[in-house]
Amino acid sequence: MTSHLLPTYARVNLAFERGEGAWLIAANGDRYLDFTSGVAVNALGHAHPHLVAAITAQAQKLWHVSNLYQIPEAEQVAQRLCEASFADVVFFCNSGAEAMECAIKTARKYHSANGHPERYRIVTFEGAFHGRTLATLAAGGQKKYLDGFGPVVEGFDQVPFGDLDATKRAVSDETGAILIEPIMGEGGVRVVEPSFLRALRELCDQRGLLLLFDEVQTGMGRTGELFAYQRLGVEPDIMALAKALGGGFPVGACLATSEAAKGMTAGTHGSTFGGNPLAMSAANAVLDVMLAPGFLDRVRRTALLFKQRLAEIKDRHPSVIAEVRGEGLLIGLRALVPAGELVDAMRAEKLIAVSAGDNVVRLLPPLIVSEQEVAEGIARIDRACGAVGRAAKAARTEEPVR
Ligand SMILES: *Cc1c(COP(=O)(O)O)cnc(C)c1O
Repeated sequence: MTSHLLPTYARVNLAFERGEGAWLIAANGDRYLDFTSGVAVNALGHAHPHLVAAITAQAQKLWHVSNLYQIPEAEQVAQRLCEASFADVVFFCNSGAEAMECAIKTARKYHSANGHPERYRIVTFEGAFHGRTLATLAAGGQKKYLDGFGPVVEGFDQVPFGDLDATKRAVSDETGAILIEPIMGEGGVRVVEPSFLRALRELCDQRGLLLLFDEVQTGMGRTGELFAYQRLGVEPDIMALAKALGGGFPVGACLATSEAAKGMTAGTHGSTFGGNPLAMSAANAVLDVMLAPGFLDRVRRTALLFKQRLAEIKDRHPSVIAEVRGEGLLIGLRALVPAGELVDAMRAEKLIAVSAGDNVVRLLPPLIVSEQEVAEGIARIDRACGAVGRAAKAARTEEPVR
């Protein structure tokens, strides 16, 4: 059968029909342990009863009214996000790239409102991923994604990951902000040193720059804190969220201090769907669960257990896994075999993982994963590593045939 979908994805030939918690069920009834969570989206797993009830109730009342009117559900999500973070104000949109677009526009407008429209440049880091719109691609600066799409949006200066001297050198009189993911997700689960982030904060304060965190992937409990920055002792001025915010319903958000957001007055930005009642009912339901006492404690305990078991797997398969890295339930296994092959081997064991840059296999179980499911996942990952290790060894010892 020919597909009429634009072929921009290299899809695996596998379709799921249902989900239950940490499990995905294929059309033929096969049950897969979902350690990808729709790439950090389904933080509460699949078909979480509270989320289902909230969306169902809202669907029977009101879906969409447009931002021409008051939306109490959005007021509520914004208030809860601000109470739980550094921020004073929130803009709602529908994706991570849009949240980043708002973050970029807010930073530029801040300096313009201060009488410095020339300070529109933003320093970003090599290997970063901020989305697929023209501006967010320019922010990421990855050639493979920019190629063939015409002139690159002006105003982004990439420096090597973790290089403070290069960052300082890149700051000019036209620089307005520094943008970074506290943990590089797509780039290979590369954890940024807390001391580096603190140094960035200092640099921003010295030079009058805004610090922007892209927490689209690290946010909403993924690292064991509601936001990754909370374990660092460093606060941003602007932060982008999306992925897990709606638990699977598309919701993005740009959070800012009122100072950083001072240029964003009526008419400066907008989104037709952003923050509509249905989307906000999903986000409120996610917050109900995540802000409940003990939820994040449990995530941290499960994450510790998972990481300990993965370290044992690394020791058992030293020719397959070089390093276990990440925070909370955002884990990367840097592989010594092609990461894609290890992902395939895990899928053969009915465990869903996803690769990332730097030859890393990313493991992103839903935050509600149980200790029993972690144990089951570990057994499957262990078998997959064994299979890949044996295949690699056989290939090495085999007489060269070509
Ligand atoms: C996924 C991701 C984005 C882009 O989000 P979309 O919803 O795909 O637009 C941006 N930044 C980071 C860090 C991400 O992980």
